[in-house]
Amino acid sequence: MAAEDACLNIEDRGTLFGDGVYEFFKVHNGKVLMTQEHLDRLRYSASELELTVPYSDEKIGAIIDKLIDTNGLQYGGIYLQLTRGAAHRIHQFPDDCTPNFFIVAREMPPVPQSLYEEGMAVLLLPDERWKRCDIKSLNLLANILAKQKAIKAGVDDAILYSERGITESTSSSVLTVIDGVLTTTPLGPWILPGITRQAVLELALKDNIPVAERFISKEELTAADEVIITNTRSDVTPVTTVDGQPVGNGKPGKITRRLMDLFADLLK
Ligand code: PLP
Repeated sequence: MAAEDACLNIEDRGTLFGDGVYEFFKVHNGKVLMTQEHLDRLRYSASELELTVPYSDEKIGAIIDKLIDTNGLQYGGIYLQLTRGAAHRIHQFPDDCTPNFFIVAREMPPVPQSLYEEGMAVLLLPDERWKRCDIKSLNLLANILAKQKAIKAGVDDAILYSERGITESTSSSVLTVIDGVLTTTPLGPWILPGITRQAVLELALKDNIPVAERFISKEELTAADEVIITNTRSDVTPVTTVDGQPVGNGKPGKITRRLMDLFADLLK
């Protein structure tokens, strides 16, 4: 149906509590990418909230393919949301609640080429999110507040830090190049296990680029030779300014450009 005609009960627990999970898939050249990885993560997020995904992977894959086909979608995104369903507002899980599940296909404008050529400018901001950022839950308030702060300050995004060190960005994973080593935050409850991050780490290893998964401090990030963010929407993007200071020589670095090329090949 047309997205405008779809209705959701006002007492859906996604609205009342953020009691649900989501996934975002990329459509590139008429095809959905890394479907299985996204569905595996969806099942993980759902199970952490004691939610059951109501369809098999095959069925969800078929719905997505049909949406792409019906909409003649070439380049865009597929947003999938699963909530516990609608019930009068009580905090504990209601006894009789049917999960709400929907999928929206949208065309999306390409990411401006200038972002890849010139790189992004970011602010460093404290990570004010909850302690289960490994779950792709609907609760994104701290993410959107940090993003808004960055936009208001005239930059593109924010990279977040906790007492452990750099975690991730508001909607992407963060990688750095320090002394030739591609370094990124280890998986754990503090970050989303980014699918693009994983693909980039594998590409790097195959290309003999050394990789380390460890926390780095704010100071290490600021002094890094290269800073990269990755996500499903914009793939591999250089960060060339952090808190107003240039990263390296202020231009996308050699390893960043290599990873951008390798990732572009992967999408072909
Ligand atoms: N971290 C956060 C907080 C995100 O919201 C996202 C994507 O939405 C990512 C990382 C990157 O994940 P992926 O590469 O799977 O899109």
